[in-house]
Amino acid sequence: MPLRNQINTKEIECILNEILNTKSPPVSRCRLLSSGFSPGHTLNIVEDISGHKECLGCGNCIDICPFLFREPSRREKTEQRTSMALESIVGEDCDQCDACILVCPQVDTTIKHYVINHRMVEVMACLEQRIGDEDELDLDLFLEEALSQT
Ligand code: SF4
Ligand code: SF4
Repeated sequence: MPLRNQINTKEIECILNEILNTKSPPVSRCRLLSSGFSPGHTLNIVEDISGHKECLGCGNCIDICPFLFREPSRREKTEQRTSMALESIVGEDCDQCDACILVCPQVDTTIKHYVINHRMVEVMACLEQRIGDEDELDLDLFLEEALSQT
């Protein structure tokens, strides 16, 4: 079974940049810009779901979100693990790190490559600046603590 053609990012670059420049979780909109389920998926169902773009509720985007790592109490607001839940508990506090895009199984690889090749320098510079911020976690200390507990 052929793989579904993934979106050509040249065709959506403008809207993609608008999404990535907005201070709000970007994963659901990137999912909707993607090509959806491949006809070669291995789910054990007879229905043809190729092209469907629904959120799978896998929670990967919630698990990876650095803002929710810093503010774990926000997670208690809902037990849902969907992109809609991510939007409601993060909202405009989004760090714009784009990590949720990279871990979503429903976002096209072409979009992930675009993010890595065009956005990561900016994201890393922003994170580097924040690491020097007194209000943020000392990552070295955090790592030492985590290793001492293993
Ligand atoms: S993972 Fe990053 S981009 Fe996604 S919602 Fe959290 S802070 Fe925003
Ligand atoms: S990572 Fe999972 S929960 Fe988040 S948007 Fe993608 S499919 Fe939905």
